[in-house]
Amino acid sequence: MSMNSEKLNLILFGPPAAGKGTQAKQLVADHDLVQLSTGDMLRAAVKSGSDLGERVKMIMERGDLVSDEIVIALIEDQIERNPDAAGFIFDGFPRTVPQAEALDATLTSRGMAIDSVIRLKVDDAALMERIRVRFAEQGRKDDNPESFAIRLGNYNKQTAPLLPYYVAQGKLVEVDGMQSIESVSTQVRTVLETIKATKVPRKKGFFARLFGG
Ligand code: ADP
Repeated sequence: MSMNSEKLNLILFGPPAAGKGTQAKQLVADHDLVQLSTGDMLRAAVKSGSDLGERVKMIMERGDLVSDEIVIALIEDQIERNPDAAGFIFDGFPRTVPQAEALDATLTSRGMAIDSVIRLKVDDAALMERIRVRFAEQGRKDDNPESFAIRLGNYNKQTAPLLPYYVAQGKLVEVDGMQSIESVSTQVRTVLETIKATKVPRKKGFFARLFGG
């Protein structure tokens, strides 16, 4: 049995500004998982002025999605670089069906799988209010009203179709993202404990069957 099956891999799923990054950071602090945020990686590339950064800057600022090829390569590179991680939290990835298929393929080839997809549910009015505040406070270019409308549209067109993909795999768990950060964290933590609890007995069962214990 591959040790990799013990790793805990989660996707934080939801529209832009749903609170995925905030919750991911909390999970990293609590569970020793590695956060893989394609948004953070791409913003770092833009900031560094690398070739990649130059290629994606305008696309991101106007609120469009960067190509699947680019983000899949970023994610594969990070999985490769973190062989000892207890698991990964994917945040902002996958955002399209081809990205989800590539993620499944790359995890499978390493003896891993996604355990759960945690969907943060937040309604559009609340998202727009959060972004209005964030734009005023941080001035992130893609938080301006025009770009944000495009991001929300792209989420509905290209990312929301991933919901049936993960429902079909039996992996989707929904969390009410409209509540306070603390309350959302509590809900996410409960999901995580449930997943951990179901992973361990399965393993014990396996050994019990092997050794009659
Ligand atoms: P948010 O969750 O607030 O929308 P992110 O930080 O996840 O923001 O993403 C910011 C931008 O980075 C996206 O609008 C898009 O241009 C680009 N991006 C991030 N992740 C992906 C991805 N998986 N596929 C394509 N583009 C991405």
